[in-house]
Amino acid sequence: MARVYNFSAGPSVLPEEVLKEVADEMLDYNGTGMSVMEMSHRSKAYEEIIQTAEKDLRELMNIPDNYKVLFLQGGASQQFAMVPMNFMKNKVADYIVTGQWAKKAFQEAQIYGKANKIASSEDKTFSYIPDCSDLPISEDADYVHICHNNTIYGTKFNELPNTKGKDLIADMSSDILSEPVDVSKYAMIYFGVQKNVGPAGVVVAIIREDLITDDVLEGTPTMLKYKTHADADSLYNTPPAFGIYVCGKVFKWVKAQGGLAAMKERNEKKAAILYDFLDSSKLFKGTVEKKDRSLMNVPFVTGNEELDAKFVKEAKAAGFENLKGHRSVGGMRASIYNAMPMEGVEKLVEFMKKFEAENA
Ligand SMILES: *Cc1c(COP(=O)(O)O)cnc(C)c1O
Repeated sequence: MARVYNFSAGPSVLPEEVLKEVADEMLDYNGTGMSVMEMSHRSKAYEEIIQTAEKDLRELMNIPDNYKVLFLQGGASQQFAMVPMNFMKNKVADYIVTGQWAKKAFQEAQIYGKANKIASSEDKTFSYIPDCSDLPISEDADYVHICHNNTIYGTKFNELPNTKGKDLIADMSSDILSEPVDVSKYAMIYFGVQKNVGPAGVVVAIIREDLITDDVLEGTPTMLKYKTHADADSLYNTPPAFGIYVCGKVFKWVKAQGGLAAMKERNEKKAAILYDFLDSSKLFKGTVEKKDRSLMNVPFVTGNEELDAKFVKEAKAAGFENLKGHRSVGGMRASIYNAMPMEGVEKLVEFMKKFEAENA
């Protein structure tokens, strides 16, 4: 068995320890004689799995008691609709557009009310985070929405926008659990799990309790109301049970690594190996403003499309997978999520140095 270094932006690498545990428990989970896939979501064994997963996430992120944690389906993309359906009471919301996911969220909200684009970095291919210290926040805005880490472009908010007292909602799909978060600064945080936490099919929503009400947009389906899931502790219908089980194992793994502060330290070290090389390289260069660099997604180019393609091909042959950049940016992108070992990035940089020497 040969595992590759998988730099995929998502679904992405998971901790090997977790995959092995899941494999070990595949035929018989904890003496039940069945796999978690085959088990009733109303069983004692499953109840413990989902409750422990929530408890561990609460501990990891230090989630205050007045926030609900919901395990939902439909990916982060479904949250683009659920957020306005549940929270656009005045039918007005402000969106900061820093990439394609942020833009999709903004476009979806336009279906339900007046969504205002109050800042954008599209003028420079989303290669920076705009100054958000004094934005034209709408007086009657129900919330301000951001995408905290821009998976495709490799930028992240290092400073939160000044929302002038309005509720802040953040898509953290691609940087959740990569560093500590002060949850109390947000009305809601949501993340599709397939970037940094688990198998696709689960999306987690962390929502301040007072926001979860029956006062939602007329016509909102039962399944798309947060209250439905909050009232049933995420067991209103059959949840993505196996996915939640794997997420729970990753939460335990992150705890064993030392929690989010330790994760951050490691991620900063890991990202610096790549960024320092990019800053000194004569061939490769990073594509985003330094102050806004993501710890998770690192796009880079050679400036020559043919050479980019050659690099991706040779890297793949050498065991570095999924380095091709997003089709909208071109070049390369190395996603170096929590589960990417330090060694993976060190070896990638070694390979880049060799490629540079050969192609100078
Ligand atoms: C991947 C991603 C999404 C889309 O997630 P789906 O689960 O495929 O809907 C949304 N936002 C961000 C930041 C992402 O990285």
